[in-house]
Amino acid sequence: SEERSLNFLEEIIENDIANGVNNGRVLTRFPPEPNGYLHIGHAKSICLNFGIAQKYNGKTNLRFDDTNPVTEDTEYVESIKEDIKWLGFEWAEELYSSDYFDQLYEFAVTLIKKGLAYVDDSSAEEIAAQKGTPTEPGTPNQYRSRSIEENLQLFADMKAGKYKDGERVLRAKLDLASPNMHMRDPLMYRIKHAHHHRTGDAWCIYPMYDFAHGQSDAIEKITHSICTLEFIPHRPLYDWFIENLEIFPSKQYEFARGNINYTVMSKRKLLQLVNENLVNGWDDPRMPTISGLRRRGYTPLSIRNFCERIGIARRENLIDYSLLEFCIREDLNKTAWRRMAVLDPIKMVITNYPEGHVEMLEGENNPEVEGGDGSRQLPFSRELWIEREDFMENPPKKFFRLGPGLMTRLKNAYIVRCDDFVKDAEGNVTEIHCSYFPESKSGSDTSGINVKGTIHWVSIPHAKTAEIRLYDRLFKVEDPSNEDGDFKEYINHESLQVQTAYIEPDLAKAETGRGYQFIRKGYFCVDKDSSSENLIFNRTVTLKDAWAK
Ligand code: ATP
Ligand code: MG
Ligand code: MG
Repeated sequence: SEERSLNFLEEIIENDIANGVNNGRVLTRFPPEPNGYLHIGHAKSICLNFGIAQKYNGKTNLRFDDTNPVTEDTEYVESIKEDIKWLGFEWAEELYSSDYFDQLYEFAVTLIKKGLAYVDDSSAEEIAAQKGTPTEPGTPNQYRSRSIEENLQLFADMKAGKYKDGERVLRAKLDLASPNMHMRDPLMYRIKHAHHHRTGDAWCIYPMYDFAHGQSDAIEKITHSICTLEFIPHRPLYDWFIENLEIFPSKQYEFARGNINYTVMSKRKLLQLVNENLVNGWDDPRMPTISGLRRRGYTPLSIRNFCERIGIARRENLIDYSLLEFCIREDLNKTAWRRMAVLDPIKMVITNYPEGHVEMLEGENNPEVEGGDGSRQLPFSRELWIEREDFMENPPKKFFRLGPGLMTRLKNAYIVRCDDFVKDAEGNVTEIHCSYFPESKSGSDTSGINVKGTIHWVSIPHAKTAEIRLYDRLFKVEDPSNEDGDFKEYINHESLQVQTAYIEPDLAKAETGRGYQFIRKGYFCVDKDSSSENLIFNRTVTLKDAWAK
């Protein structure tokens, strides 16, 4: 990888190692909540947590932050694991916050015994009202002065299921006057009679994020707990719980979320798109999810490179979608096999080519690779499909393709000259008549003819048809979440265009997971719905940035 200066987290870790903190041990964690599929923002966190541990001979745990039974599901657990592996990372241990429910409960009891937590019978509204405002301190209620014994009994009763949802909560007895609202007696446990995807009906009280996360970090002896900026005001509470429980002193660090334009990244919003059928599932190739990008034809390397390029910062910003596209083009240019496909066909007849004759030509797979990365056979015959836009009846100067009298090269084949064309009753050109120069065959051209243009083609009797899915930005505006009204009003309803194309026969063997460059048309991949009877290709990205100014 390229030389770059250390980011602020690497500086912190190098400093810790130099000072012998945790004996130089580095253990990070990636803590997804299994309530949706991972997206490109998560990829940033994954690359950061796994990458930094690798760099300093450490390890990374995968911890499912599954403390909210209502929105979580094992489908999400499976997809998250698949996506992390696909990105190329290996976790040390697969862990679940729910595995710590007993221990977290004991931690809560410890705080009650220390007089640092109490059961509050107030409603959510009352608690909010009593919390005060950022400029006005909160006011203690009658429950705050409950005895330790009473708190222990009530908390046990909460656990035993004696109360309904919302009837009681456990709160830290902290500081109702703190300028940090998160420190004003934050909730530790709430009652939720809900089935959990792992613990079933064993629990009806569930810990809040703030009480579960840091304690889970400490249980695992995480050294550097890296999260996003919105958790900065939670850090004093993170430290307070750890100090008062006298458990392993994990430390929290924050970096800016990765956001990209023309999409949304909140799982809640992505779920709406899925549930309301505005896209075709979590892995719709227009989605910013890892599974969507994979189906679209993005490679793990391109995503890792993207994350490396955007770097980590301590200020939020919106990253240009084009950078993601730049990264996939860069990778596919080196690895994609070149193939020919005609998306908007018009028929070409080579009048001096013998009727019924078929010639097998050869085309290298990738000129960017030394030796061409192998080659494939290209059947050539008298009748070809070419792209309609490669012919003009009245071409301007410097049009190096076909028009009356103009010459161009057919890729991997011969130079042809346009002699004539045929029009139908409405005046549409339906056929182009050319003659070819037999001595101009690619690789052994002795014709002495110089042409500037090269066009792609497919032999008509050998062509296969395929469904081609062309994608554009999913939203019409850069930041749909920050526009007036509902974000879904800004969906680009033209973001999927379906066409039928003629493809060279070798593409019938196209493999999923490999990139193909349809010469002059972009990078494509086989869609997961494709079959030998019904070939389907997704356009990963165009060859050039159509959005560049
Ligand atoms: P959402 O708002 O979409 O629900 P989340 O942060 O609640 O996001 P989690 O599953 O809790 O989603 O995220 C797992 C980890 O990934 C967390 O450490 C979180 O900070 C990080 N993460 C989530 N979104 C981003 C993002 N856009 N950029 C960087 N890191 C992110
Ligand atoms: Mg969330
Ligand atoms: Mg979260």
